Amino acid sequence: MGDVFKVCYCCGKNLTDEEQKIYWNTAERCCSGRDCGCQGMPLSPPQCFKCSFESLYSAWEREKERAWQATAKLTRIKAALARTDRTTQRRINDAMMILEEE
Ligand SMILES: [Zn+2]
Ligand SMILES: [Zn+2]
Repeated sequence: MGDVFKVCYCCGKNLTDEEQKIYWNTAERCCSGRDCGCQGMPLSPPQCFKCSFESLYSAWEREKERAWQATAKLTRIKAALARTDRTTQRRINDAMMILEEE
């Protein structure tokens, strides 16, 4: 393995032996190594523990934010729905069921 795999691509820190070992054991590979002759090169660049934790955490934060916005929107729709007449409510409920199925 070359030196490029011994350095975190985010912060440039040298990876510890343990970080390197985990990177090689868990990285998604291009192929088994024989299919294209790449020798099973990892698809993602190496990261230290701190950086991989931070990127996972920020992905989770974005996901949480999206989920929260979707919930807030749904709450507003439901509140508006409660103020309409029965026929409209039923129509909108049907439309929402179809949307949820997709
Ligand atoms: Zn790093
Ligand atoms: Zn390959």
